[in-house]
Amino acid sequence: MRRALVYLALLALGVAGIMAVARLGGIVEMRIGEVEILVPFSAFLLFAAALFLLLHLVLAGVGALRRWPARARARREAEHRAQGDAALTRALVALAAGTPDLARIEVTRARRHLGDTPQALMLAAEAERLAGREEAAAEVLHLLAKRPDARFLGLRGLLRQAIQRGDWPTAQRLAQEAEAAQPGAAWLRQERETLALRMRDWREALALAAPGAQQAPLALAAAAQEPDPTRAAELERLAFQTDAAFTPAALAHAKRLKEGGSARRARQVLEEAWKARPHPDLAEAYLEGESDSLARVRVAEQLVHGNPKHPEARLLIGRLATTAALTGRARQELEMLAASGEADRRVFLALSDLEEYEGRDTPESRAAQARWLRQAAAADPEPRWRCTECGAERKAWAPHCTHCDATGTIGWGRGPERGVIAPRA
Ligand SMILES: [Zn+2]
Repeated sequence: MRRALVYLALLALGVAGIMAVARLGGIVEMRIGEVEILVPFSAFLLFAAALFLLLHLVLAGVGALRRWPARARARREAEHRAQGDAALTRALVALAAGTPDLARIEVTRARRHLGDTPQALMLAAEAERLAGREEAAAEVLHLLAKRPDARFLGLRGLLRQAIQRGDWPTAQRLAQEAEAAQPGAAWLRQERETLALRMRDWREALALAAPGAQQAPLALAAAAQEPDPTRAAELERLAFQTDAAFTPAALAHAKRLKEGGSARRARQVLEEAWKARPHPDLAEAYLEGESDSLARVRVAEQLVHGNPKHPEARLLIGRLATTAALTGRARQELEMLAASGEADRRVFLALSDLEEYEGRDTPESRAAQARWLRQAAAADPEPRWRCTECGAERKAWAPHCTHCDATGTIGWGRGPERGVIAPRA
């Protein structure tokens, strides 16, 4: 409506202008050689306007002719795009419906219309994978990985395939490439951690692990793999500082300190570890080199002074006191422990040893020894290092079970029936 009004106003102005010019009159004089042409001014204006219009139409026609191929191409491309998009949508629907063969047909159609766009390649790989054609899927994923804009998508798909077929070295290489393509991807971090554990690359697993107590076993395992003794010592210290209750770390750290001439510091480490979680291996390391049985009791008392009422402390002192002929002290500790309900087989066996050590070959003594042995048979077994996965026992802690090949499953405990200490790696 507004446009019509504008046209009307322009037309009215034009007509008014022509009428004004016609009323003005006047003559345009043109001289070409000897010929002289006289034209009324209004006719000259009309002629000039007509000539301008004609020229404009001719130029517009030429421009349209020149643009025609590009416009036809754009129209064709738009059609292809529309058809390709429709095929992609149908492929998505087919994938969601669990009909991968139909999805493959639609994806092929989409790739014909759209070319190898990341979306088309991604759907093609998914369709091939669902159809069970892993090699064809890998080919498509390689194409995807070659595109700088979709490299991560391709590598992620290839990584998933490598994990599925258990090809860990390839998976780890792909994970590193994917990390370079998309640094800091949360999903990738998780995958790399799992892969590092699988590959027993403890240093990498330690670098990727979330901060906390779970770092201690990884640091200790990495120390065992470390060829440089200084770095190994640092990792052992890190393991101990991260979790003082993780006995193997304290043992390794203390051993390294003792070998380096810091026997006092080594003892402090063992005392600190005992305070955090008493363990017979700590006592063994603490008493190493001390052969006098009375001195052994004294040294053990130093170790347990931070945690003297713990069952492991009472058992340790009871056993050492027996050997040192401090039978009264031994009986006090062991009987208190036996009455506490926290005693395991070792306590009753130690009490039986005590009866034997006292050497009173009386009927009462023999009866007491038999009673302790009966109680030992019925008591909980002693705790050991064992795998929570397969139950295999081990002499010492290790980051993975050589029996069932599980990682992070070796813990200290009495066995499945009493709940093994949770694995830490
Ligand atoms: Zn195992």
